[in-house]
Amino acid sequence: MTGKGIKNILRVTDCQNMLVYNDTPVQELTDPLFHKMGVRLLMKREELNHPFVSGNKWWKLKYNLEEAERQKSKTVLTFGGAYSNHIYATAAAAKELGLKSIGIIRGERTLPLNQTLSFAESCGMYLQYLPRSTYREKRKDNLIEQLRRQHGEFYLIPEGGSNDLAVKGVKEFACTLKSIPFDYLCAPVGTGGTLAGLITAFGNSKQIVGFSALKGGEFLEDEIIAFLGDTGHYASWQLETAYHFGGYGKVTKELLAFLNNFQSGHGFALDPIYTGKMMAGLFDLIQQGYFRVGTVILAIHTGGLQGWSGIKQS
Ligand SMILES: *Cc1c(COP(=O)(O)O)cnc(C)c1O
Repeated sequence: MTGKGIKNILRVTDCQNMLVYNDTPVQELTDPLFHKMGVRLLMKREELNHPFVSGNKWWKLKYNLEEAERQKSKTVLTFGGAYSNHIYATAAAAKELGLKSIGIIRGERTLPLNQTLSFAESCGMYLQYLPRSTYREKRKDNLIEQLRRQHGEFYLIPEGGSNDLAVKGVKEFACTLKSIPFDYLCAPVGTGGTLAGLITAFGNSKQIVGFSALKGGEFLEDEIIAFLGDTGHYASWQLETAYHFGGYGKVTKELLAFLNNFQSGHGFALDPIYTGKMMAGLFDLIQQGYFRVGTVILAIHTGGLQGWSGIKQS
């Protein structure tokens, strides 16, 4: 692992005097469509914040790893699918901090290991595979106790990394956006932790739109409200659930064409699981005239480029 570690910046907590791993650019995208519809689209290139703990995962892990240190845990344990950005990021972050890491992976071990899991192993993450039926119990005390008997004490980070400390980290990230003039803030949604952090930071002052990467993502609204707690009933956020392109981890020809076009037109890549679907959705909403003339939209590139390794391109 090269570059500065995240250890020395884990303790920074307030927005005024905040250190980030890499200060990432905000890039204005140009497209005849935006001109025609009278809107501006900016993208916060947060995928560039760290080479391996990329995008929202850095922010979601930040306070969790700080808490693991505070508790003097030597090991972190978390859950994810075989192509999980969260598993990838957690393995890299744990390595940087000198923590042991255990990844509980959904489904069977298949060899050769895919790039996500071989990277995780190369960071020293111990991978344990659970049958899908057992994996489903990931939030149940029984399974966690069984894992503690097996592995000893560990700091538990839930699947996808979403918990209150993740929301706190994303809220801090959102502080870095406050000097940017925009009307709408857009981010992809997997578990909803990231969107909850953005909503917490902006309250009613901005319109916030989440794009579900899951099919049938309507249930995520309640998950997001649960993360928000007492402050959950803001009027100014919403969830778009139509742009899943076949479901989580799936791609369509249409989506792949959009992603290729995007990369050649704007000079950087989106990931196929999250930001790609959000941007395809956003372009569609702009086309439909969803945003009034003069609107400035800020979309977050939440990272996840390693996810391309799991996509079979024909
Ligand atoms: C994990 C991930 C998300 C989803 O974040 P949640 O907090 O789970 O909603 C979005 N984009 C990328 C690139 C991710 O890796």
